[in-house]
Amino acid sequence: MLGAFNPIPRVLMGPGPSNVSPRVLGALAKPTVGHLDPQFIQLMDEVKTLLQYAFATENEFTIALSAPGSAGMEACIVNLIEPNDKVIVCINGVFGGRLKENIERVGAQAIVIEDNWGEPVSVEKVAAAFSTHSNIKALVFVHAETSTGVCSDAKALCELAKHYDALTIVDAVTSLGGSELKVDEWGIDAVYSGSQKCLSCVPGLSPVSFSPKAVEAIKMRKTKVQSWFLDQSLVMDYWSGNGKRSYHHTAPINSLYALHEALLMLKNEGRENAWARHNRLHLRLKQGIEQLGIDFLVDEAHRLPQLNSLVIPQGVDDIKTRQYLLDTYNLEIGAGLGKLAGTTWRVGLMGETANEQNIALLLSALTDVIK
Ligand SMILES: *Cc1c(COP(=O)(O)O)cnc(C)c1O
Repeated sequence: MLGAFNPIPRVLMGPGPSNVSPRVLGALAKPTVGHLDPQFIQLMDEVKTLLQYAFATENEFTIALSAPGSAGMEACIVNLIEPNDKVIVCINGVFGGRLKENIERVGAQAIVIEDNWGEPVSVEKVAAAFSTHSNIKALVFVHAETSTGVCSDAKALCELAKHYDALTIVDAVTSLGGSELKVDEWGIDAVYSGSQKCLSCVPGLSPVSFSPKAVEAIKMRKTKVQSWFLDQSLVMDYWSGNGKRSYHHTAPINSLYALHEALLMLKNEGRENAWARHNRLHLRLKQGIEQLGIDFLVDEAHRLPQLNSLVIPQGVDDIKTRQYLLDTYNLEIGAGLGKLAGTTWRVGLMGETANEQNIALLLSALTDVIK
């Protein structure tokens, strides 16, 4: 007999999704209205304003795409990059590799800057690439590499790109709401994120923001964006006001209620306070992890507070341990990704999940495992 689905609640300490608060889950259960209902249009406007706050931007074109973070990645690339453009793309983990894949699929030329997994993007290498190659359309990189737990210097990288008049496209899927991110101050032209990481909303939405310069680049395209759904010149009319909102696709209405609530919570806490909370809890976790004799993959200076890559201790079985944590403690931690599979765990302290109680649970569970 098929029946209602009743999952056992878990503590989600992996690379996302993070735990979703009852407030956000409650927002999902509110009555569905039509997507062109004036009430819903007002909600979309508020989501835009709240996203501008979260991203620290005044960009008019700041919206949530109706699809996960990967769609935000693809939207930035397919709208801003055209066939034969030259693009510098930085790879220091899984997501940088996906950016390169997106750039090549557009038919553009990817100039790849590689750094070791566990290290930040090298600003020097990017500077060298800019001085060797001319006419670079864009610099593309991941701010917070969730596959390794590294934070790269987005501010310095954007400054460099500005100097060479290149656009900047930044993956902030894991950084938004979790660590310092200043879209306008740093001069980011296109940025995308995800709802399920430090915003602690349900998965399936991708906040994006385009600077006036990026919007101009989209309007000046020589070719049509090959993806109809992700063509932002069409989506713009759906999200822009002036009473002329027209149908593009049906927005995930209740998911947007949830995002609105999650963003309100960030606004009430204050984005700087949220960054500080992630940092404080990361330091608390670090203390306990060091007491257990477990090493971090990443040098202290470049660690992300919200994503901690731990080196699996000698003699400890990766899969059995994660299964044990799930079965015994209802606690999920992330496996290593790509090259780091089997040798690292990824412990997320994102959004709702980032609290003292969860850290205490993880530390006692790991103590249990290691004994
Ligand atoms: C999670 C993540 C993505 C992809 O987001 P999805 O919502 O899973 O599609 C992209 N980039 C980074 C850095 C991520 O952490």
